[in-house]
Amino acid sequence: MSIREINSVTVLGAGTMGSGIAAACASAGCKTNLLDISQELADRGKGNMLVGRAPMLDDPGAADLITTGNFDESLKLAAESDWICEAIVEDLEAKRNMFTRIESIRKDNSIVTTNTSGIPLHSICEGMSERFRKDVAVTHFFNPVKVMRLLEVVPSEDTESDVIDSLAVFARNQLGKGVVYAKDTVNFIGNRIGCFWMLAGFHKGREARQNGVSVERIDALMSTALGIPSTGLYGLIDLVGLDVMHLVAANLDNNLPADDTGRKYLAFPPEERAMFDSGQLGRKTGGGFYRMLKNEDGSRLKQMYDPASGGWNDAAGTSVDQDAAVLMFNSDAEGNFVWHLVSETLCYAADLVPEISNDIVNVDRAMRWGFNWKMGPFELLDYFGPDNVVERLQSEGRRVPNMLNILHSSGHSTFYSGSGSQFLTVDGTLQDVPEE
Ligand code: NAD
Repeated sequence: MSIREINSVTVLGAGTMGSGIAAACASAGCKTNLLDISQELADRGKGNMLVGRAPMLDDPGAADLITTGNFDESLKLAAESDWICEAIVEDLEAKRNMFTRIESIRKDNSIVTTNTSGIPLHSICEGMSERFRKDVAVTHFFNPVKVMRLLEVVPSEDTESDVIDSLAVFARNQLGKGVVYAKDTVNFIGNRIGCFWMLAGFHKGREARQNGVSVERIDALMSTALGIPSTGLYGLIDLVGLDVMHLVAANLDNNLPADDTGRKYLAFPPEERAMFDSGQLGRKTGGGFYRMLKNEDGSRLKQMYDPASGGWNDAAGTSVDQDAAVLMFNSDAEGNFVWHLVSETLCYAADLVPEISNDIVNVDRAMRWGFNWKMGPFELLDYFGPDNVVERLQSEGRRVPNMLNILHSSGHSTFYSGSGSQFLTVDGTLQDVPEE
């Protein structure tokens, strides 16, 4: 494998992600430039690395490796960098403009990446020179960069393979990231599946609420019992914000294939739409599906929203003790909710290989490292028993997705074999699981 050395980095954009990426590079000992529209913004980004409960820089001394500047006067610093990582605003024209400026000054064989969350790389590179296109890729970090293990690396059709290999080796060995190889499709892997789960969750959650399952109970069902973080569904939506979910849905609407299953969940149900319209967006606006009130004695009271009545009730605290494999097949309202949301999400994932990823391993890793799920979609299918899932799908007249059909034809009974050391490929053969 031929590798391009990465010892120096320029990060363009000193916002949330840019400062996180620059801090990670400086912590790894790289000489790092951090640039933004103005010197003040770049300095603020650098300053933010040292504050908060979990600062981006563990070693304040690493800040000495970071030079700040503005795009107009200091872009020339990028000429010497081995890796130039663009992390400016999520706007196609702004990113294209930045790429054009970078191409005019960068040295031969430097690597250029964009940290876009969802704009296809081919759109950003359209019409650019071959010299540029062979050296460009997506590096999609997750927020907060220091905490989240996932880095999705995405080539375009023209990206040379040593660009991807070099980024993967650097990210793994120097930044301590878990690298996932994704394809240049909308939202890549983690957010494609994770956002499907959340957007479908709005609709399946609404049905469950109509069947008497509370917001708090839905989160208890859709969290630790299934190996999903305790924020559950609505707790995560509160964290992300309904405004961001709305933008995500709009981007999916522009870029999803016409026949994609996810399309039917892009529009918010009426109750969530009303919350969005009234500015009840989540934690950033003081409340979404939950809010915290302060009692006179200083203690805090958690309340949950009832989207149907528009009122608030005290959250009682609830948990689910059943094993996931039991929970998935219960026949009551709670079991139906779990089955429908989880099976739709797993079937969605099982239809997206090889469209978004060459194999199931990268899909499972993306959900484990990017969404902190204990098991990825194919690991969950193995846990539930693929035959049990297929049997229920067929009994409901639902289509069996691609990878479950491949599994059936292969004669194997699970996606992973040999205690997880081998996985089922799209050809129906077994292959060794690559090292993380
Ligand atoms: P941010 O708003 O915190 O920072 C963006 C920076 O871009 C700002 O410092 C701003 O000064 C600069 N900027 C604004 N307009 C510009 C322009 N026209 N030209 C050049 N610079 C401009 O945003 P962020 O959250 O750090 O996101 C940066 C990129 O990372 C986006 O593409 C975003 O989609 C992606 N991303 C964000 C997250 C996340 O959770 N925040 C996660 C993964 C990827």
